[in-house]
Amino acid sequence: MIPYGRQHIGEADIAAVVAVLRSDWLTQGPTVEHFEAAMAERLQVKHAVAVSSATAGLHIAMQALGVREGDCVWTSPITFLASANAARYCGADVDFVDIDMRTANMSVRELATRLENATHGRVPMPRAIVPVHYAGQPCEMAAIRALCARYGIAVIEDAAHAIGATYLNEPVGNCRFSDATVFSFHPVKGMTTAEGGLVTTNDDAVAEKLRRLRSHGVVRTDGLTQREGPWFYAQHELGYNYRMSDVHAALGLSQLAQLNDFLARRQALVARYLDKLADIHGLHPLTQHPTSESAWHLFAVQVPPEHRRTIFEGLRARGIGVQVHYIPVHTQPYYEDLGFGWGDFPLAEDYYRRTISLPLYPDLTDDEQDIVIATLIEVMDAISVDAASGNEATADV
Ligand SMILES: *Cc1c(COP(=O)(O)O)cnc(C)c1O
Repeated sequence: MIPYGRQHIGEADIAAVVAVLRSDWLTQGPTVEHFEAAMAERLQVKHAVAVSSATAGLHIAMQALGVREGDCVWTSPITFLASANAARYCGADVDFVDIDMRTANMSVRELATRLENATHGRVPMPRAIVPVHYAGQPCEMAAIRALCARYGIAVIEDAAHAIGATYLNEPVGNCRFSDATVFSFHPVKGMTTAEGGLVTTNDDAVAEKLRRLRSHGVVRTDGLTQREGPWFYAQHELGYNYRMSDVHAALGLSQLAQLNDFLARRQALVARYLDKLADIHGLHPLTQHPTSESAWHLFAVQVPPEHRRTIFEGLRARGIGVQVHYIPVHTQPYYEDLGFGWGDFPLAEDYYRRTISLPLYPDLTDDEQDIVIATLIEVMDAISVDAASGNEATADV
């Protein structure tokens, strides 16, 4: 089976992890500090806080930015569950903003309309908005930031797909248009630490709060230890154990050194897909904004919804591990229990019925990709033949 995504692990990655295993530190220590410094430099941001996952990062980013019980957080329905769940961890309500069909990112026009409704009290004004850079393509952050600034709404970018992406020629993660950005280093994402995440911010107070929340809400300062003794620490609030370990950070440092190679390979594969799939009738890749460069976490194509299942199962049966990203979050039973349902966000639902993610990862070879393309053409041709003969049959009747 050729999967839709997978990690690249080389000898340098293995050596980096082994070196930490032979050292004195395993949990969060000097290697996490190196990793954070290297990420902050790469992303051109003041603070980078490593955490145990993007889910953990989203949770404490929301908490650090003041999301609490009774608040509301808006995100996109076309995302992984965690973007919405993190708000629920804070006791906040979740609502969604429908997508722009061209990019499958949160629609700025829809956001403007919803905010207008909120000013008239028709829906609660959100405390925070979580745009998701779907498939690696940055959302229209300048416009989103401008809208949110008008109402004092915090902006947290879910950049789980977007490590290495650029927006207006600057790295996603520099927080030019947001209060915080969250990355994931899960193995299918652009680079991996096995499990892990990162929160970036330019706000000193938010960074300090993130560091406290990821480790039990505990503070150790020179002042405290001088007064009480070297053993002293103080818990001021309820935090978590969301630390990244030095073992994971070692893998992250080694992966970061290869990130440009990973991105270049993904781009080359996408160029081949776009070239070879251009003439297939009924197949549409997402539109790319000229002002940004996607990190190409996913290569998602839209197919006729009535044939999506046949195409998906045809590819799976022939060893192509396609996937669907995503089932709209608001249709999950948990969110249905909170009052959402099918029909609430029609564009997201329409997109969901059409989309298939084709294999895309740095180790995918040209030969393997050609197999994917040939198989897709074979499966799509079978459908056109079926559809054509079906039409003839109807005409005869
Ligand atoms: C993967 C993903 C997450 C969660 O990442 P973890 O590191 O697995 O917690 C959050 N949001 C999106 C959009 C994702 O794709």
